Parts: sequence; C-alpha cells; structure tokens
Amino acid sequence: MNARLELDGIHLSFNGQAAVAGLDLLVNMGELVCLLGPSGCGKTTTLRVAAGIEQQESGAVRVDGQLVSGGSVHLPPELRSIGLMFQECALFPHLSAIENVSFGFSVRGSTRQRNEAQNFLRRMGLARHADKYPHQLSGGEQQRIALARALAPRPRVLLMDEPFSGLDTRLRDGIRDEALGLLKEEGTAVLLVTHEPGEALRMGDRIALMRDGRIVQTGEPYHIYNHPRDRLAAAFFSDVNVVEGTVASQQIDTPFGPFLSVGNPDGTEVEIVIRPEHLALQLDSGNPAPVASPDLGMPAAGRVSRARFLGAESLVEVRVERDGSLLRATVPGTFLPPDGAPIWISLRRDRCFVFPRRA
Ligand code: ATP
Repeated sequence: MNARLELDGIHLSFNGQAAVAGLDLLVNMGELVCLLGPSGCGKTTTLRVAAGIEQQESGAVRVDGQLVSGGSVHLPPELRSIGLMFQECALFPHLSAIENVSFGFSVRGSTRQRNEAQNFLRRMGLARHADKYPHQLSGGEQQRIALARALAPRPRVLLMDEPFSGLDTRLRDGIRDEALGLLKEEGTAVLLVTHEPGEALRMGDRIALMRDGRIVQTGEPYHIYNHPRDRLAAAFFSDVNVVEGTVASQQIDTPFGPFLSVGNPDGTEVEIVIRPEHLALQLDSGNPAPVASPDLGMPAAGRVSRARFLGAESLVEVRVERDGSLLRATVPGTFLPPDGAPIWISLRRDRCFVFPRRA
C-alpha cells in the first residue's frame, strides 16, 4: 500500500509534559483513519503536527514519501498538500458559499475555478445556495461548504478534527454519510480525529486508538471492537462486564463454570471482560437448570435487579447469586422481567476477553 501520510516517532511536550510520546501512524491512499481516544490523549496535537501548525521535538512527517517535517526540514502547512477541516468550520462571513469554496484555490477568480467550486457545491447538494452567505445557511450546510472548501484544491491528505461535533445528532449521521461518499469518490487519504467511538466505527476504514500520547492499537472497526488489546480498549467502545478470577491449573473458576486460561501462569489474577450484548438471559421458570453448552458454558443463577427499555433494545441488570456481582445485559427488542425475577445468565464464550488484572 502507498502511505500518503506517515508519522514516524513523533514526540512533543508542553511544559515538560508529553502530549505526544513516540507516535507512529500511516494513512494509505484512499483510506480514512479515525484517530480515537479520550480527551487530552494528544489527538489534536498529533493533527497539528501533521498539518505543520505545531513542530514536533523529534520524529518525521512524510506526505507521499516526501519529508515535510523532520531534522532541519519544516514545511509550512500550505506547502504540504494537506487540507484542513476543524470543528469550528470558520467560513469567511463576508464571502458567499461559492467564494468560500473558491478560497482554497491558489489562483482565484477564473471561470474554470468557479465551475470547479460549483461542481463541489453540487456534489454536496448545495448548488442552489452558491450565492448565500454563511449566516443565511444552517449549521449542516455550513459544515458541508467547509468540507467542499477543504476538498476543492484536491489535497492528497485531509486532516479533520471533530468535524461533525457541532451538529445535532440527527443531522450528523446524514452529513457524515455524505462526507464519506465524497471523500471516497475523491480517493483522499483522511485522518479524522474523534472522541466518539460510534463515529469512528461508522466512518473509519481503520481506527487508531490513542492513549497517553501513543497509539495503543490500530485495526479495522470489526477487528478492534472484537479483539481489543486490553480492558481499556474494550471499555472505550461500550460498557463492559468484568468477572474476576485467579488462574489455577490453567483454569479460572467462575460462577459460569471453568474458563481455560492458556498462557497465564497459575496464581495470575485475571479479568474476563464481556460486552452487555454478549450475555444470554433465560427466565427461570422453575424447570431444571438449562444444561451447559460449549458456546455458553454453564448458566449461573441470578435475580433481576432492574430492567430498562431503551428503544431498540432492553437493558437488564442481574445480580449473580454465587458472588453477588452485578452484570449488565442488553437484549434486542423488549425484554422487561420484573425486579427480583429468578433468571439464568450465561456468557458467550467466544466473545469473552481474558486479560491479566490491571494493578
Ligand atoms: P480533546 O479530545 O479534549 O480535544 P486531545 O486528545 O485532542 O483532547 P490535545 O488537545 O492534543 O488532546 O492535548 C493533549 C495534551 O496536551 C493535553 O494535556 C493538553 O492540555 C496539552 N496541550 C495541548 N496544547 C497545548 C499548548 N499549546 N500548551 C500547553 N499544553 C497543551
């Protein structure tokens, strides 16, 4: 694959505190990579280094294999073939929509460029708004103009920092999908910063998960969701349940039967981590206990602590009888057993992650 954007060993500190601490990241041609992580982990700083707004203390930035920053080289943003789109889309208030889009061209005012700008507006469904000023446009329309402006000069790499966060939730999904369509049509390499896992899963070809100034895991959305490298990576995408245990003879004893634990020596304290949608519930109707199965292991007896209707799914909290732990399960559709109802609860074995317990 051709790396359009390459960040190699980037370090940058503010007042002696590392904001980016040895970060490596590639964005390939036509690829959209979401840089995802909690507030303050260094996402925006990484983007600013890639853009040339900040200069790293060490490490290199390359665009299309060409060094744009590193050692004695530090090209300014306008010489990097990079487009920028930030959260506050900051259209020029005194320029019309089409003038804003044309602003990205190095030479402005020619008929060809006006046509090109008009073409971008049309593709974003904004052709009829060409002569309106920003204050005459909705937030979503302004956002789309900002995207057209960023893409009009056809940058090889587009850097986007929380570009959709100012929009209301219902508008956001539509704009995200339109933006994604246009970016894919253009084949632009995109690095998009977000702190929203849902946005990263929806938009990213790959997700780079960042923590404390470093990338801790990269992968396709399906992979990173289903194969997190640690409990924090798992918990970044959804609520998780944690069942604790200790390894003895390569097994962990739990209320759900024994779990195999290969690779962890005896005595290791471990956490079995499982997402709410991967628990299975069955109301206890007084018949004999359901039998253990290879998929679900042994069901554990519990009681419903409370059940809540969430629309597309129901959230059921269950207290496990053996150890008093509280687990949260989500069930598609409507499943609202009364508080205190006896219930069997099992874990989908293939969806459990076993990690050594964090200190
Ligand atoms: P958010 O999601 O909240 O925007 P982020 O992951 O983008 O956060 P950054 O804005 O990159 O995080 O900040 C990383 C760290 O560097 C933070 O601790 C921040 O306070 C610090 N920082 C960023 N810019 C500066 C600056 N110009 N001067 C001093 N400290 C800074």
